[in-house]
Amino acid sequence: MKNWEKNLREITPYVPGEQPDFPDMIKLNTNENPYPPAPGVARMLKEMQAPKLALYPNPGAKLLVEELSAQYHIAPERIFVGVGSDDVLAMIFMTCFCSEKPILFPDITYSFYDVWAELFRVPYRTVPLDEEFRIRKEDYYKENGGVIIANPNAPTSIGEAPDFIEDIVKHNPDSVVVVDEAYIDFGGESAFSLLEKYDNLLVVQTFSKSRSMAGMRIGFAFGSERLISAIYAVRNSYNSYTMNYPSIVCGAEALKDRAYFEECTKKIIRTRERTKEELRRLGFSFPDSRTNFLFVTHERVPAAELFAMLREKHIFVRYFKAPRIDNYLRITIGTDEQMERLIEVLKEYLRTA
Ligand code: PMP
Repeated sequence: MKNWEKNLREITPYVPGEQPDFPDMIKLNTNENPYPPAPGVARMLKEMQAPKLALYPNPGAKLLVEELSAQYHIAPERIFVGVGSDDVLAMIFMTCFCSEKPILFPDITYSFYDVWAELFRVPYRTVPLDEEFRIRKEDYYKENGGVIIANPNAPTSIGEAPDFIEDIVKHNPDSVVVVDEAYIDFGGESAFSLLEKYDNLLVVQTFSKSRSMAGMRIGFAFGSERLISAIYAVRNSYNSYTMNYPSIVCGAEALKDRAYFEECTKKIIRTRERTKEELRRLGFSFPDSRTNFLFVTHERVPAAELFAMLREKHIFVRYFKAPRIDNYLRITIGTDEQMERLIEVLKEYLRTA
């Protein structure tokens, strides 16, 4: 090893789902939305003036924050925006988890949490989910340096009610509690209403799933003014212009179209419920999903085998080779046609497997 190599920061990064590019593929591996963003977004992109890009964007992403404020009825000072919720969460880890005590999160959850903890040198402890992949709230009633819970959780798809989250917040008056609600719009119940009562709570959401804008990279957090201003201070000590001009204007435009948002999320929920019945008939079981994906296991055929078989047919789903979940597949809900094709391929394979 050369001397300078000793000074390199070595870290095992988070590995996102693959982004294959086949014309005939069915992509159900990264929980994207199969529908395009609200029509106003396409209009905005067309009308956008290229010379505008010569200027720096508004550092506070004013237009976007004001629209979030109007739609969610919360003061702009209580909103933080970032480059996807990954950026928002990373900033939260940096700002809010500076205790010497370990932060807590489930053993099976979004696999970026332990990566950020390692990156920012935040001590952490993972808390096992129960046998049914449910969070045991009592496990979070002990001393800690912070708590982060994905609700609904990923990849399990299970959502808990706001009372459940409130019990965790109530028992942690000395920590910041973060609820990662990336999938909340597909039938989950947000902890948003708790924000009035608890100034140590952060609720994080994204445009990547329910608003069909994963490619734009927009995420946001709601919290007390004290917390939000602390996160901005850290963000502004690192990069003042995380939000680019196109995402500010397109994000604001997407928010205005509530009808489209509701229609899309409802459509995905309907497809999900239909897919559940078909999968059950084929011998799959799964937790009751409150998300745009299903976390499924088959009574007979190993998940790894099904994953490889589907991949060969250019149907991409997600498989995690990790303890407790290595016999499960995470399948994103696509369009009705995509799900019908998936079911057809599975049916065909399971007939002889
Ligand atoms: N939280 C959870 C639970 C997720 O599954 C994801 C998507 N990978 C994210 C946050 C981050 O999504 P984004 O950065 O696209 O907002």
